[in-house]
Amino acid sequence: MNVVKPIKSVDDLMKAGLVAPADRVALEEVAARYAVALTPAISKLIDRADPDDPIARQFVPDAAELTIAPEERADPIGDHAHSPVEGIVHRYPDRVLLKAVHVCPVYCRFCFRREMVGPQGLGTLDAAAMQAAFDYIHSDEEIWEVILTGGDPLVLSSRRLGEIMEALAGITHVKIIRFHTRVPVVDPEKIDAALIAALKASGKTVYIALHANHVRELTPEARAACARLVDAGIAMVSQSVLLKGVNDDPDVLAKLMKAFVEIRVKPYYLHHPDLAPGTSHFRVTIEEGQEIVAALRGRISGLCQPAYILDIPGGHGKAVISGSAMRATGDGCYTVTDYRGGEHSYPPAD
Ligand code: SF4
Repeated sequence: MNVVKPIKSVDDLMKAGLVAPADRVALEEVAARYAVALTPAISKLIDRADPDDPIARQFVPDAAELTIAPEERADPIGDHAHSPVEGIVHRYPDRVLLKAVHVCPVYCRFCFRREMVGPQGLGTLDAAAMQAAFDYIHSDEEIWEVILTGGDPLVLSSRRLGEIMEALAGITHVKIIRFHTRVPVVDPEKIDAALIAALKASGKTVYIALHANHVRELTPEARAACARLVDAGIAMVSQSVLLKGVNDDPDVLAKLMKAFVEIRVKPYYLHHPDLAPGTSHFRVTIEEGQEIVAALRGRISGLCQPAYILDIPGGHGKAVISGSAMRATGDGCYTVTDYRGGEHSYPPAD
């Protein structure tokens, strides 16, 4: 039997027939800067005969990543400005991000935290840092929701996840625990009974926000993994990124959103791509994004409509792009209003 192995280097990509030898030098340069990984499930899914394969585009490195646009920045959504203790991002009063791990099973080429994740990234919180993060959450009774993100929190072992959930179980003001993950899609076998038991160990309401960008990612195995989670009482929502060459087409997006609803994953966020370094080849303009999202209205059920949102650079939170928070000021520039009423230029001036 032909065993498909995880891919973690340019050599592995060449052996798997995913990149051409002529691209080796440029791709080594990309891989030295931004982590590379594809799981067997994703490697198998790529159509090697299609030069525009939307799965390959998301995960196989490209020399275009070496081009840094002037508006791009290492911390595009301003995590660092809102991090009171290591591993915590506290942007809104009622919720915090808990970034326990900066490792992912795959490394998305458009990742908004690409300078933080991977072997050269911020690593995993040690026991003392983890305790300090729990102490911080404990000390602020306004914190209603803890969002585990990273990195991908479901790369942690069931034992480690169970320990985190038990620690959060003791914090009475925390009612909701949310995970942002790609694991049900990129490593569906990881969603087993032990992992589900660990997720339920806190006794609190658990949500999983599943990151997928193209309907082909929702394979029968991925759908079965989601069914195991939902059947266990874990609520699921989706998050996708609007990406040039992957899903910047109303028909492609409609298929993805309908498939989410069919597998009991409620469409939640459609992110405008962030200003992460070396990702300009993925970015549609705001105007193009608005047209694509407008074309979804009426075409598919209200159940299938995600919120199209922008993470305002600098850490000012999210704004709904299709609403009144975005005001065009000409030449592709906008004034964006944050949830506190503050106004910001987009793209940012500095
Ligand atoms: S899984 Fe999420 S954090 Fe990890 S590389 Fe992809 S977008 Fe970035």
